[in-house]
Amino acid sequence: MTKQIVAEHVDVLIVGAGISGVGGAYHLRRHNPDTSFVILEAEESFGGTWWTHRFPGIRSDSDLHTFGYSFKPWIGPPIATAEEIRSYMGAVIDENDLARHIRYRHRILKADWSYEDSRWVVEAVRTDTDETVRISAGFLWMCQGYYRHNQGYTPQWEGMVDFQGTIAHPETWPEDLDYAGKNVVVIGSGATAATVVPAMAGTAAHVTMLQRSPTFFRTGRNAIEIAETLRELQVDETWIHEISRRKILFDQAAFTDMCFEKPDAVKNDLLGNVRALLGPDYDVDKHFTPSYRPWRQRIAFVPDADLFKAIADGTASVATDEIDRFTETGIRLKSGETLDADIIVTATGFNMSMMGDIAFTIDGKPLDFRDTVTYRGTMFTGVPNLAWVFGYFRASWTLRSELVAEFVCRLLNHMKATGAKSVEPALRPSEQDMPQLPWIDPENFNPGYLMRAIDILPKRGTTSEWQHTQDYWREKDAFPAIDLEDEVFVYRWGQRSEVAAE
Ligand SMILES: Cc1cc2nc3c(=O)[nH]c(=O)nc-3n(C[C@H](O)[C@H](O)[C@H](O)COP(=O)(O)OP(=O)(O)OC[C@H]3O[C@@H](n4cnc5c(N)ncnc54)[C@H](O)[C@@H]3O)c2cc1C
Repeated sequence: MTKQIVAEHVDVLIVGAGISGVGGAYHLRRHNPDTSFVILEAEESFGGTWWTHRFPGIRSDSDLHTFGYSFKPWIGPPIATAEEIRSYMGAVIDENDLARHIRYRHRILKADWSYEDSRWVVEAVRTDTDETVRISAGFLWMCQGYYRHNQGYTPQWEGMVDFQGTIAHPETWPEDLDYAGKNVVVIGSGATAATVVPAMAGTAAHVTMLQRSPTFFRTGRNAIEIAETLRELQVDETWIHEISRRKILFDQAAFTDMCFEKPDAVKNDLLGNVRALLGPDYDVDKHFTPSYRPWRQRIAFVPDADLFKAIADGTASVATDEIDRFTETGIRLKSGETLDADIIVTATGFNMSMMGDIAFTIDGKPLDFRDTVTYRGTMFTGVPNLAWVFGYFRASWTLRSELVAEFVCRLLNHMKATGAKSVEPALRPSEQDMPQLPWIDPENFNPGYLMRAIDILPKRGTTSEWQHTQDYWREKDAFPAIDLEDEVFVYRWGQRSEVAAE
């Protein structure tokens, strides 16, 4: 694609108008006011995750003081619905005049880097007209999230075609699905299942959460005490937001440390809470005691214990078993028990998407990200002028998307000041023999969608600089301290032959 005629050139092209892309645009306007940019978004509106998901009860499981932006106070209850999050993002777009930079219904299919021209040529298809649009960009900022929107992960079970009812995946929820008075089985036990089950319970005849193995949950009021107190004292919302963020992050750091240092104590605490909610006769060992250590997978937060209240009042229940097969009227379990269902919800997770399923090439040669090593989970060896936002799982995603945003803005300003046309990270001579490991250490964090995709992900090295550490508390200091003159950054001032380091 290198020499194709393109209609337009921008300094920066942001992929995706979710929480990361909109936040990135804010930082770009603030820190790099002379930089031209567009956001290309495949959907017809902004929000990303909070636009595409429509299942009953959809809400965050992070608090919005930290899932929201540092620069825009969150003033509602900390756990928010998708609609509330979109309305907050809409306010950010309006207040910062970002709408004119966003082009909806543009699905990017290809991106080709040319060393000669020091630019990416991006090819997108307009989903409304099928027209092909080409834009060139000096820098690509990948804010496309981590999973394939509109195509959830559904394992294939025997007999699925025989089932006479409706099968719905939370990612492609049929908005006209009427579940009043119906028997519903929700397969899964993650944050999504824990949201859907109480949201449908009470309206449905009965909701069964069917899980192969249990998950850890935390419960609590949907409120932040310190925010409530400060509000009573009529403290300004900007301060309340900042103080609440700090308090939440402080408490989370302490909780994460406890998980690693005293996993049994944390486990007992979490399970004690569940026992208190479900009563002495409930089989907590079977249904709510995971085999893994707390924090090896995300611990979902259940606001106001609504999932447990639905189980306690009998409108919902849990079955811990394996699926033998689907039948015409429901699911037969390996134990021989059957679950009757009119509707089966497959809350079984995502299909990971590597870089928005865009076909990348460098000077026409296909780029396979698994051949690269990641620099701090954000840039990749041998890939010029590209940054990827991959947030946190143990802390709010947005904390990292903003750290990356500030880093990208600083890098762009540095390049502008020095006149560099491109930058890519490279292993230092002393690191050439560093072992190259899979993207993530499964001992540390092992959710299914990542493990299913581990073979297509970039490699990590053995030092934190060459890893996505999932450690906000280290990265919050490490990112701002990155030395842009370090030899790890290979800058070019023009064509390939003008490499600074050579
Ligand atoms: C139901 C649900 C609840 C969640 N709750 C939380 C939570 O409480 N806390 C938390 O930290 N995380 C949560 N997550 C993870 C969540 O996805 C992220 O936190 C965050 O919303 C991701 O934002 P993003 O902007 O990076 O990506 P996304 O929200 O995925 O948005 C990416 C955007 O890029 C667009 N895009 C992708 N590919 C292309 C392409 N090729 N061309 C053009 N556009 C493209 C997509 O259409 C999308 O709009 C949740 C995820 C789900 C599914």
